[in-house]
Amino acid sequence: MQMLKRLEIVGFKSFARKTTLDFSSATTAIVGPNGSGKSNVAEAFRFALGEQSMKSMRGKRAEDLIFGGSHSVSRANRASVAIVFDNPDIGGRRPFKIDFDEVAIERVVHRDGTSEYSINGSRVRLRDIEELLAGANSGETGHQIISQGEADRILMASARERRAMLEDALGLAIYEFKKQEAQRKLEKTETNIAQVESLRRELAPHLRFLERQVEKLERTDALRIELANAAQTYFATEEAYLAAEKRTAYEAAQAAAARLAQTAVELAAIEENATTDAEGARRLATVRAAEAGVEKAAAARAELARELGRVEGALHAAKQRSARIAREPYAKVSREDLLALAEEAQRQLEAPMESGALRAALDSLSKAVRAFVDRFISNDNVLMADEEQAAYALENERAALLEREAQLADEQDQRRSALARSREALAAHDETGKEMRRRLLERAEAKAHEEARVERAQARLRELAQMEEMLELEKRDTVALAGLAALSYEPLPGLPQEEREAQAARRRLVERLRIRLEETGGTGEDVRQEHKEASERETFLARELEDLAKSADGLRSLAQELDAELAKHFADGLARVNASFGEFFAILFGGGHARLTLEESDADADEEPVPSGHDAVLRQGIEIDVALSKKKVRSLVQLSGGERALTSIALIFAMSQVNPPPFLILDETDAALDEANARRYGDMIESLAKKSQLIVITHNRETMRRAGILYGVTMGGDGVSKLLSVKFEDAVAVAK
Ligand code: ATP
Repeated sequence: MQMLKRLEIVGFKSFARKTTLDFSSATTAIVGPNGSGKSNVAEAFRFALGEQSMKSMRGKRAEDLIFGGSHSVSRANRASVAIVFDNPDIGGRRPFKIDFDEVAIERVVHRDGTSEYSINGSRVRLRDIEELLAGANSGETGHQIISQGEADRILMASARERRAMLEDALGLAIYEFKKQEAQRKLEKTETNIAQVESLRRELAPHLRFLERQVEKLERTDALRIELANAAQTYFATEEAYLAAEKRTAYEAAQAAAARLAQTAVELAAIEENATTDAEGARRLATVRAAEAGVEKAAAARAELARELGRVEGALHAAKQRSARIAREPYAKVSREDLLALAEEAQRQLEAPMESGALRAALDSLSKAVRAFVDRFISNDNVLMADEEQAAYALENERAALLEREAQLADEQDQRRSALARSREALAAHDETGKEMRRRLLERAEAKAHEEARVERAQARLRELAQMEEMLELEKRDTVALAGLAALSYEPLPGLPQEEREAQAARRRLVERLRIRLEETGGTGEDVRQEHKEASERETFLARELEDLAKSADGLRSLAQELDAELAKHFADGLARVNASFGEFFAILFGGGHARLTLEESDADADEEPVPSGHDAVLRQGIEIDVALSKKKVRSLVQLSGGERALTSIALIFAMSQVNPPPFLILDETDAALDEANARRYGDMIESLAKKSQLIVITHNRETMRRAGILYGVTMGGDGVSKLLSVKFEDAVAVAK
């Protein structure tokens, strides 16, 4: 099969003008005088295949590859070489893994050293070319291009280099590509793993902090529930207590009022009987006036008591409010603390920074923080002061009321004494009967007694109303902290049988829980949200890490599988190359043995750790063992130049037999052969050409004779290589 169709050269080295070589024969020979440009053709192939080593193209810089000009032809600005292959579809498979019947691989180099690669006119990366070639067993180590003077290159090469050439020749380079690909991906994955791990490390302390905050909030939640529960019992009991007490006081007031009315009627009747004359009527009038005075004083006292109740309620509320402000967490942070904080922020801002404008923004931010903190604290102080002022005014009011109350009590006492005296006088006026006097005094006393009872009951009712108000305040405060749950309780069927102290203890508990809750602050919705986000991020990162670790594992085992396959194919290939190598060697040398062996694993002992398994096999270089039939020569260095060339040829041919490349270029590989060997060489070329297309650059008649096409290369005085097809007879002449 002839895959190589043609080579198109423009501006490459001595080929200033467009030159096309057709390869329609199995073997093409290129002949011509020294220095005419034959080797440049071989290098054009290397160039187009992506060769990166300037040295192997006999240059130092990219410019050396471009036609440099002569006195009659100007220099070129670019060199381009295209190799065109046939790529037929044979039973669904094509030699090159690309869906075109023809594949043109082209490379252009410019004077500035940049190269462009294309496949069928589309720009590609060098890597794409390499992969395409490796897939068609036409590799980059150039195992298929044997340059002039390099006939024994494979003998000169190190064991490791030899191995690379052999792998390339066996078409195993593709494994190396895949392995490199896997390795690259693995490195990227490992970088990603490191990044994700560092993100997780950064996140961890923040998350731990938030977790602690949320734990605290959860404890607060528990506290809230505890408060709600405690408050329910407390409120229910207090309500039952107040209801019962109110009923009792109310009933007592009712009963006392009824008895009072009765007593008053009885007393009035007695008094009426005592007034039989004008003096009696006057004394009775005095009694009535005194009675009115007592009632007025009582009414004034009752009014005062209501007022006092109002003031005391307000005072209690004001005190509670300022106590709450004092308990607020921010109120505990001193103004100095907060200002120190703002100053620290300012100090950090003043540290050297890159962008001034950024800086300015942060500066104003810091000022805003300061202003806010200032306002915040003074606002708090104002609140506190307001409450304290209000409490102070109420205290004054209360003191005044208490003083007035004392006065009124005195006044009432005096009025009562006056009333008692007027009654005495009224009773003394009626000398008719001691009995009447006794009854009058007794009733008057009873009346005063009932009056006192009514007063007490009413005072108690007022007290209870005040307690109800206090309870409402407590409910509000509790609901603010524990929510409406604190109020979801059933009223008690009756007052529990217990000491009042039990309820006082409940009250203290509720108060304590309220204080603790106030200290822990708000519901922390923002903290919970932040915690949720942070832990979601943590979960995401953990999953990401897991995925990355999985794909890293996958890539590692892929690399191992590739190694295993490579090792297996290499071992097979080596055995097959060895079979041919021994055969060709025996033909060329008329006997003897030659074979490739794997380097002793410690032969290349360097600092690297000793590899094992596939790795060890994959690292072993290739040694060449030779034994000439009639000589005792066993080492390569003992071979003559011709013998080296023959050994090399045997090996190159053996390698080509096992996995034939699309074409093989032999640049004067036959230079060192005597006539007999040149003939054997020619025979081998013929058999080799059945598998790979051959391009032979030669001065040798024997070799020329085997070629189907002969090109002559000449160089005129203009320094430009010219190509012409020649017949065998002419070729011999041209070659000189
Ligand atoms: P031999 O038979 O002696 O091996 P050859 O035919 O293989 O010779 P080449 O080595 O291919 O000859 O060609 C060398 C010629 O190419 C020289 O004349 C050299 O001046 C010319 N040459 C090399 N590079 C350039 C370039 N960049 N521009 C112009 N000519 C160049």
